[in-house]
Amino acid sequence: MHHLRRQAPRALRTITRRLASARAEPQFLHLAPSGDFWLGSKIYAAKHNPSDYVRSLPLPVGQIIPDDCPHEALIKMYDAKEVDAEQLRPAWSAGDPTAAVVPPGLCQLTDEFTDCMLEERTWVTDDSFVVRFGLPDATKPLNLSTCACILAGHKDDVRPYTPISTNALTGSFELLVKAYPNGALSQRLATMEVDEAMPFKHIKFNVKTQYPFSAKKVGMLAGGTGITPMLQALHAMLGSPDDETEVSLVYGSKTSEGILARDVLHEWEAENFWRFKVSHVLGGVIGEDHVKRHMPPPEEDCVLFVCGPDLMYNALCGPRGDPEVTGLLKKLGYAKSQVYKF
Ligand SMILES: Cc1cc2nc3c(=O)[nH]c(=O)nc-3n(C[C@H](O)[C@H](O)[C@H](O)COP(=O)(O)OP(=O)(O)OC[C@H]3O[C@@H](n4cnc5c(N)ncnc54)[C@H](O)[C@@H]3O)c2cc1C
Repeated sequence: MHHLRRQAPRALRTITRRLASARAEPQFLHLAPSGDFWLGSKIYAAKHNPSDYVRSLPLPVGQIIPDDCPHEALIKMYDAKEVDAEQLRPAWSAGDPTAAVVPPGLCQLTDEFTDCMLEERTWVTDDSFVVRFGLPDATKPLNLSTCACILAGHKDDVRPYTPISTNALTGSFELLVKAYPNGALSQRLATMEVDEAMPFKHIKFNVKTQYPFSAKKVGMLAGGTGITPMLQALHAMLGSPDDETEVSLVYGSKTSEGILARDVLHEWEAENFWRFKVSHVLGGVIGEDHVKRHMPPPEEDCVLFVCGPDLMYNALCGPRGDPEVTGLLKKLGYAKSQVYKF
């Protein structure tokens, strides 16, 4: 008994340390003088070759050298011992906005937890990643309505996640996740092995307003991982050819490196500049000035979508679970029918 008491805390500390360090491993471009290349996470070493025969150049997290990189560019990188930033591509992309909208009630996941197998994890920054999970019926898409999210469960913890893949994807779905150092679910998602199972379910509470959103203007207030429900709504709006909704997004992140889905947002904004505007708030909270400057005013035909950390809900519109709208948005005159807490 005494022995156990002494051992348990140490074992726990080891597990906690391993989990707390779940970040992207450094990745390398391994290049031979011929221009042959491969990507890997460890420095290349082979006894039979001189030490710098294969050069191992560090790659920025979330970036890869695509297979069609020109041969001359690869030789140049070998000679210069440096990666040419122009040849880099994001390891993951959301692609074009895609409206693959289905009505509520068709989701493959029910209100009972069902195991889904992890198929792949791609780190996109040093603490965020995209995970792809296989669906129980591999012949069908997830069929989640827009807007809605699913729930992931691990031990006694259950958390909502909004897939960033659309129903155009058959047999699997993708989540963009930020790994919090002591986060129960996000660390499990960051450290579980491929082919391990994660239980997911879908309940009615998590079906929110449905596309089309029946307002001329949509304002989005997102913080951190709260961007994923906005991406889901943007897929539907920007991906529908006849949709003319004007969308403005205010997106709060701690640092500029921490902006999730940054490339996606920039691309989609550039392609839809006449109706989609993104404003970033870095290192601070979304406040009255941001709302007044960037959100459609309450007297216009508009709805506002809110998603972010608890503190953000509390300050902007009141707690997520409370159907009433309080906080800043109430003060500024937005009605309950105009504000959606995702
Ligand atoms: C509708 C909805 C959709 C969501 N979709 C996604 C998604 O697609 N991807 C995703 O990664 N997350 C998403 N989230 C957030 C997600 O549900 C979890 O809250 C998040 O993964 C943290 O859970 P955890 O168990 O890892 O951390 P917890 O165990 O709950 O928290 C551990 C510690 O992590 C820190 N932390 C946790 N959450 C936050 C936060 N939001 N901001 C700052 N610090 C925090 C705190 O320090 C906290 O003490 C969504 C939330 C909502 C409401």
